[in-house]
Amino acid sequence: MSFKSLGLSEPLLKAISKKGYETPSPIQAKAIPPVLEGKDVLASAQTGTGKTAGFTLPMLHLLSKGPEQRYRPIRALILTPTRELAAQVHANVKEYSEFLNIRSAVIFGGVNQKPQVNKLSQGIDVLVATPGRLIDLENQGLLSLNRVEIFVLDEADRMLDMGFLRDIERIMKLIPNKRQNLMFSATFSKDIKKLAYSILNHPVQVEATPENTAVEVIEQKVYRVAKGKKTGLIIKLISEGNWKQVLVFTRTKHGANKLCKKMISAGITAAAIHGNKSQGARTKALAGFKNGSVRVLVATDIAARGLDIPLLPHVINFELPNISEDYVHRIGRTGRAGAEGQALSLVSADETTYLQGIEKLIGESIEVEIVEGFEPDPDASTEPIKPGQNRSQGRGRNSNSRNSSKKSSGNSKNSNRSRSRNRNTNSR
Ligand code: ADP
Ligand code: MG
Repeated sequence: MSFKSLGLSEPLLKAISKKGYETPSPIQAKAIPPVLEGKDVLASAQTGTGKTAGFTLPMLHLLSKGPEQRYRPIRALILTPTRELAAQVHANVKEYSEFLNIRSAVIFGGVNQKPQVNKLSQGIDVLVATPGRLIDLENQGLLSLNRVEIFVLDEADRMLDMGFLRDIERIMKLIPNKRQNLMFSATFSKDIKKLAYSILNHPVQVEATPENTAVEVIEQKVYRVAKGKKTGLIIKLISEGNWKQVLVFTRTKHGANKLCKKMISAGITAAAIHGNKSQGARTKALAGFKNGSVRVLVATDIAARGLDIPLLPHVINFELPNISEDYVHRIGRTGRAGAEGQALSLVSADETTYLQGIEKLIGESIEVEIVEGFEPDPDASTEPIKPGQNRSQGRGRNSNSRNSSKKSSGNSKNSNRSRSRNRNTNSR
C-alpha cells in the first residue's frame, strides 16, 4: 500500500515524502479513498494513528481539483476542541499544501483577534478553528461560512466532553446544507454516533485497530505510595531511570505548577502546560519538550489531549484521573507508532476507587509495586477525593461541568449551561 495508490495528486505526494512518511497508516488507508470519492466519513482510531493526514490529504486533493477562485471564499472548515490542536492541524495543512495553490489560516481564542482577521481578509481556502472564536468572528461579520464545501470535525469525542455540542449545532447552521462532512474521533461512544447521525449524510464508517488495543503493548505499572511521598518518588524514578522525555499528568493546574517547581529544584528541567498558561508559554513548553531541552512536561488532561508528541517513552500519572477513559487517553501518548512505552501511575489510598474503575475499563489488573522508603500510608483513608473538593477553583468547576455535559448531552438546555461554564476553562 502506498500513498500513490490511494490516488493522491503529485504535489501532495511530494509533500508527504518531504514529511518522511513512507506508507499510509491503517486509518489513512481506510479513510482517504472514501473522502476522495466525496463521501461523508466517520472515522475512529486511537490517538497517534495519523488521523490528521487522514482527512487533510484528501481534503486538499479535492480543493485543488476545484475551479481556480480569484476571490477566495472559505471552502473547507476544520473544527478542533483546543488551541493547541488547532495550531497543530494548521501546521499540518500548511506542510501538506506546500506545493499546492491553497491558502489556509487558523483562529482560536485567548489571543488578539486582529492578526487572525487580517489573515482572513486576504482570502483563504482552508480555515482551522476552535468553536468559540469562530462563532465570535462570524457574529462580528468578519468571516463568512456560506461557501464551505468540506466540513471536518476533529477530535469529535473531546468536543462533546468539553461541552461544545451547542456550538457545533450553531456552526452547522452557518454552513451550506450541501457539503461533505468528515468526523474523526479517538473513541466511538453512543454520543458520538448520535452526533454523527445528526451531521453526516450516509457516512462511510471506518475504524482502525479496535479502541484500546494499543494499551496492550504499553507496560503499565502502579506504585502504591503515601500521598505525601509522591513528589519524592517521581523525582527518584525520573533521576535514577535517567529518563529524558517524560510526560506527567496531574489533576489540577495548581498541582501541575507545584510539581513543576519541585522538579526544577531537584535539578530536572520541567515545564507545565495547562489552561491558565498563556498561549506563548504553552507553545514554548511544548517546543522545549519536543527538542529535548525540557525533560519533563507536566500537563492536565485537556491541555495534553491530542498533542502531537511522537515516540514518547514514559508517561507518569502523578494522580489518577477521576474519569477512567482519561487514563486510556493519557497512556495512549506512549508506545506511539509501534515504539514501546511505559505508563506508570502513583496511587495513594484515596485513589483506590479510581484505580478500580480504570482496571474495570481496560479489563485487566495492573501490576503493583512498592518502593522502599515510599510505602503507602496504612492509616490513610480510601475515601475518594470528590471532584471539586481540595481543588483549585478552576479545576473544580471544570470537572463538574464535564460530568454534567456527559450526562446531559442531548439535553440542549443542560448542555448549554455546562457549555457556558466551560467557556473560560476549556483549554485546561
Ligand atoms: P491522531 O490525530 O490520530 O492522534 P496525528 O495525526 O497527530 O494522530 O499523527 C500522529 C503522528 O504520526 C504525527 O507525528 C504524524 O506526523 C505521524 N504520522 C502520521 N501519518 C504518518 C505516516 N503515514 N507515516 C509516519 N508517520 C505518520
Ligand atoms: Mg488528532
